[in-house]
Amino acid sequence: AEDQLRQAQKMEAVGHLTGGVAHDFNNLLMVILGNLDRAERSLKELDLDRAGRGIEQARSGAKRAALLTQRLLTFSRRQQREPQPIDPNAVIAGMADLIRQSSASTLVVDFHLADCPWCVLADQNQFEIALLNLVINARDAMAATGGPVTIETARATRGEEGVPDLIPVPGQEFMRITVRDTGAGMSPEVAERACEPFFTTKAAGKGTGLGLYQVVDFATNSGGHVMIDSEPGVGTAVTILLPRLVIADATGEGLQPPAAERFA
Ligand code: ADP
Repeated sequence: AEDQLRQAQKMEAVGHLTGGVAHDFNNLLMVILGNLDRAERSLKELDLDRAGRGIEQARSGAKRAALLTQRLLTFSRRQQREPQPIDPNAVIAGMADLIRQSSASTLVVDFHLADCPWCVLADQNQFEIALLNLVINARDAMAATGGPVTIETARATRGEEGVPDLIPVPGQEFMRITVRDTGAGMSPEVAERACEPFFTTKAAGKGTGLGLYQVVDFATNSGGHVMIDSEPGVGTAVTILLPRLVIADATGEGLQPPAAERFA
């Protein structure tokens, strides 16, 4: 049943994505068809240079379309959960295009990524899905108002303001990943239930209520934590805190057990 739930979460994320990708793919098809028409006309007029350029443009459009579908397929095929050291900033940067395409019209996303090479121990696929889920929620919350989604990363230390004392390791360092919107916000009643599986306020077919549940599931599995800060009419910030993974050097200095073991 857990596998089925995970599959449903994944299909939801992929479904949201295909909307945006289909739009871009269609634009590229228009480019290809337009250039093939131009090449055909040029051939009839025996303007071989112009025909050649048309074919070249069509080819380049087709290559971009192939890259687009390839990316989507790679994303939807990666299945198994494998916690491994990942650099959240690198993963987010690598997903920038995919995130922007998570909407039929290109979504405006502001990235504020910390200049910080910290790693965390987490499943990359689940992390990517969690990010998409947060971005999609932010987009939906701003459907009426518009406005950019902000994705921010920063270092955080337990005990610091805003970092909960829930994880009992003094001085534990975290990567903080926040997705922020200036949308509708949540009433206290909605905020309280938002992470329950299948809780949704969206119209049938628009929401499954699995998005935030997946985000919490991912964070918990990675030894981390999720914080939601939301105000009706002002906006929402969802923060994932993931414990920093310190990899031992040759002397064993700085040795730290993998996050998942430590917090199991
Ligand atoms: P879904 O998006 O499918 O409804 P989620 O678990 O992601 O499922 O979200 C549950 C509910 O929490 C949403 O239906 C919505 O009411 C609320 N919610 C989540 N994220 C936001 C947000 N960024 N702004 C306002 N409300 C939100």
